[in-house]
Amino acid sequence: MYASSIYNLRVNEARDGVLVFNTFSGALVMLDWDTYQFLLGVENNQNPESHEHFSELLRQGLIVRRELNEANRVILTEKRTKMLSRRDTLKFLVGPTLACNLDCQYCYQSEVRRNIAMSEGVWEDLFSYICSRFEPTVKRLHIDWFGGEPLLEHERIARFSVRMASHCKEIDVEYSAGVITNGVLLSQRLMGVLHNQCMVKHIQITLDCLVDNYCRLKGATAEDFYTVLDNIEQASQLCSLTIRLNTDDDNYGDMKELARHLLVDRRLRGKVRIYLAPIEGTDSAGEGFMKRFLTQMEPEFLGYLVNQLGYSADGLLPQYKGVYCGLVSPDPAIIGPSGEFYQCEHHFGDSSKVTGHISRGLYYTPNQLDLLNVDIPLACSDCDILPLCLGGCPRDRLEDGLSVDCSSRRQNVLKKIRLYCAHNGWSLDWNHGEGRSQG
Ligand code: SF4
Ligand code: SF4
Repeated sequence: MYASSIYNLRVNEARDGVLVFNTFSGALVMLDWDTYQFLLGVENNQNPESHEHFSELLRQGLIVRRELNEANRVILTEKRTKMLSRRDTLKFLVGPTLACNLDCQYCYQSEVRRNIAMSEGVWEDLFSYICSRFEPTVKRLHIDWFGGEPLLEHERIARFSVRMASHCKEIDVEYSAGVITNGVLLSQRLMGVLHNQCMVKHIQITLDCLVDNYCRLKGATAEDFYTVLDNIEQASQLCSLTIRLNTDDDNYGDMKELARHLLVDRRLRGKVRIYLAPIEGTDSAGEGFMKRFLTQMEPEFLGYLVNQLGYSADGLLPQYKGVYCGLVSPDPAIIGPSGEFYQCEHHFGDSSKVTGHISRGLYYTPNQLDLLNVDIPLACSDCDILPLCLGGCPRDRLEDGLSVDCSSRRQNVLKKIRLYCAHNGWSLDWNHGEGRSQG
């Protein structure tokens, strides 16, 4: 009647027991050896309910009902989540311009970067389009501004936001916004406008490296670099901030020093979230880069943040999110400066990937359908980290033929969990016994 979950990951073992992480439920549990043996044998146990820890193991998802097909649950949930419209929340990623004030070498928009910005007419149509999506069930509207560099259009963003916020208030819809920016233009004055008038609650700034590499890799000046650092410090007073560090073999050497400068010298510990993002496919990301990133760079960097800089370990435990990419959906979510729709943010600015328009509706193009039809590969059904990996980015698989380096992904998951445990004082012998808990 019952079985041990296929998502029980045996993180490690020690004299006293086994540490198990369930990649679906997120439960992290230290089991003594007797309970662990009970878990492994639960399928053949005639009276499992009588075990003292049965109810708790069931509640934590380490034990499941035998008829439950756990892999199909993950695969179907992913399919359903991406195909169903959310009825209570509208979310848009809007790029009011393709232009940018920097010239990052890795930018996937570099081939399409042009001085195209939203005209007054398109801003008007954008307002009407978003209003047309307010069904009676909608309770929240969230817009993330991106680009190009969205803050080049900050005046129009502010005008639009004031009007939209006022309309939302009238119809009792909660309005919030975010900005994805390189941070150069994010002055104290502009930050005030974004916060007070544009309802911006979150800002993501892409920083990437120390000053020398910053100038070389982004076509920027040293003054730009220090301006961004000052802007980060000021912006952190008003809203939540994420610092994205795009990483390849070339600039990884800068990351620890940059993080130390932000968290310690600039006293931003507890005020900003920092994460590394791999840049694939550039000349500076050599062969085997993703393997190095997953198995060495990211775990090492996180270890440094948590153990040396006092950064919170709370975000280390990986979480099941149901769907790999919330932007892949039948409803338009990404809007470009001409009012055009895209299915994926990597398509932004590429006219061959446009899927519709705010005034003309969806075109139901083959590329929209192709991306929506990318499901989790059936080969992933046996994988114990499927709830965390979900087969990887659908666009990467469809368009670049990239597949996930499964063994490295798994090591990455295990290393993060161990880092979390070590930080929280779980004393385990870290040299033994990783693997699936079924034996
Ligand atoms: S690149 Fe992948 S994760 Fe990013 S928006 Fe496109 S489909 Fe989603
Ligand atoms: S791509 Fe690999 S690691 Fe990811 S879910 Fe599939 S088998 Fe697992």
